[in-house]
Amino acid sequence: MSAAVINFIRELYRTNEFIPLHTPTFAGNELKYVAETIQSTFVSSVGKFVDDFERKMEAFTSTTKAIATVNGTAALHTALYMAGVKTGDYVITQALTFVATCNALHHMGAEPIFVDVSKVSLSLCPVALDNYLTENAFSNESGCFHKSNQRPISAVVPMHTFGHPAELDELVAVCSKWNIVLVEDAAESLGSYYKGKHTGTIGELGALSFNGNKVITTGGGGMVLCRDAALGARTKHVTTTAKVPHPYEFFHDEPGFNYRLPNLNAALGCAQMEMLPEFLKQKRQLAQLYKTFFADTEFSFVNEPDYAQSNYWLNAVICPDPQSRDQLLKSTNESGVMTRPIWKLMHRLPMFQNAHRDSLEVSEWIEGNLINLPSSPTQLAL
Ligand SMILES: *Cc1c(COP(=O)(O)O)cnc(C)c1O
Repeated sequence: MSAAVINFIRELYRTNEFIPLHTPTFAGNELKYVAETIQSTFVSSVGKFVDDFERKMEAFTSTTKAIATVNGTAALHTALYMAGVKTGDYVITQALTFVATCNALHHMGAEPIFVDVSKVSLSLCPVALDNYLTENAFSNESGCFHKSNQRPISAVVPMHTFGHPAELDELVAVCSKWNIVLVEDAAESLGSYYKGKHTGTIGELGALSFNGNKVITTGGGGMVLCRDAALGARTKHVTTTAKVPHPYEFFHDEPGFNYRLPNLNAALGCAQMEMLPEFLKQKRQLAQLYKTFFADTEFSFVNEPDYAQSNYWLNAVICPDPQSRDQLLKSTNESGVMTRPIWKLMHRLPMFQNAHRDSLEVSEWIEGNLINLPSSPTQLAL
């Protein structure tokens, strides 16, 4: 099986060279716009590309306010801060996620609670969430609290794994039943839609990432998405040192972050936004080819959920057992075709090993059997 997979991927990318998991593609105005920032000297905190990039993202995601930040972790940190997460609170998220989700809530002084993911989306399971809360929490008009110590459970953070949208209607219903704020980690899901709505725009706040391995890149960068105009305006204010506009006075009216995305990076982002529809088209074609290839095998391709349109950020297959997963990982990597297991579950990391959690049964099954495949849009159908 391994040899067939390797051949298939080499044919897709038409190369005998090393094939990475996900690389950036610069085929548009990237050089032109970045050069413009250098020629104008506006490479830093002032310049037109930041505003352009934010307005483009608002239009693309159909949300009220998009606020560019230095990276996705900073966007998520900001989103949790604006959601009102406080020191000593709990935040419920997935054990099956990239560590940035947990780092962001840790920096708010909060502790994670890990709840299982669903087999449908690989993202936070609404049934598992409701079950956990029924067993361990109580709520009233001032919020939701853990039964064991009365500490607030102030946010739920689903992460749209590999770009596949979580079951958001159900998550929204559970969060409103328990009086908890929903914040979406949409770092992997730019271009993914839940029942026609862009991911990251359904919760109170959402966070995107433009790291080098994501669907589009600004080098490093992120974006907070906000549905409420007033909250969005304050989010922009807080990420830019909370400076009150004035021709020369320095006055800051609340504690702020310096999370502003430099104009240099935003220039790259504007050029990448022009390419995004083409990237998404190519990534869906690639996913379709993988799906067809794996259809007659004992490996099962991870499809977008019925209710969603996924960006297929990273393609994945579930192997029949951990032994065949390990074998495929080894042979592909030895032949210069990059594949990866999923992240170690968060409760296995030393800093989160004592976190409250449910059985994490589905998360552990995915951890043992899933493998990610090369997913760059580049070279395909060009
Ligand atoms: C990429 C990513 C982030 C943010 O990463 P940055 O590198 O800080 O931009 C956050 N959460 C998840 C799940 C991610 O995959």
